[in-house]
Amino acid sequence: MAPFVDLVYPPRCPACGEGTGEQGGLCVTCWSDLAIPGNPSCALCQRPFGDSGPAEGAICAPCLGNPPVHDGIAAGTLYTDTSRKLVLALKHGRRIALAPLLARLIAARIVSCEEERLLIPVPLHRWRLWHRGFNQAALLARELEKSGHGLLTVDGLVRTKRTPSLGGMGAKARARALAGAIAVRRPDAVKGRHILLVDDILTSGATSTACVKALKRAGAKSVVIACFARVLDEALDHAR
Ligand SMILES: [Zn+2]
Ligand SMILES: [Zn+2]
Repeated sequence: MAPFVDLVYPPRCPACGEGTGEQGGLCVTCWSDLAIPGNPSCALCQRPFGDSGPAEGAICAPCLGNPPVHDGIAAGTLYTDTSRKLVLALKHGRRIALAPLLARLIAARIVSCEEERLLIPVPLHRWRLWHRGFNQAALLARELEKSGHGLLTVDGLVRTKRTPSLGGMGAKARARALAGAIAVRRPDAVKGRHILLVDDILTSGATSTACVKALKRAGAKSVVIACFARVLDEALDHAR
């Protein structure tokens, strides 16, 4: 099928639209704009320190000041112009075919776990789900299941109320908006399990923190956040 598909739809880079060598691949310029977080990194949140930073096993200042509720962050990339375009293409451009590529980048950063993990996407409110037709985090989680990273539990978490857009809010307002907004559907399914909480972008962490807290309250043994693009401006220079 591939040569035929290429004739009808010449391969284009999903981030910038330039012609590329193969279907679904990024062009060279966009690949080089992707910032893959490296080591050494924070022992709690995997924030990359860069070559001049502390040795492996150290803990970053934000984690020291405010110990995280999660058990690690596996970020495929740091947020750049290209990772933003890829997420938007997946989310709004309906380029669902991008999910395997983005999930491969996430998978490369996941530290393996002896027990099988549950893959739980950060939930959308049902009205937003209805409007968009799919949850992009669930698409990524499904790909991670296909590559053997856990058992997809698509409705492990649910949104019990609509939350306004959190952009532009301070930390306290975000926490207030999210209070009671996210719940575990079946606590017995989560109890004693290791969880990979899957999302497309990790920004302030307010939503993921609400998810992690709900999962831990239900008895989850550990919760690692797996995301495609993590917003960490100060770490970008080290990653490039
Ligand atoms: Zn490109
Ligand atoms: Zn940290």
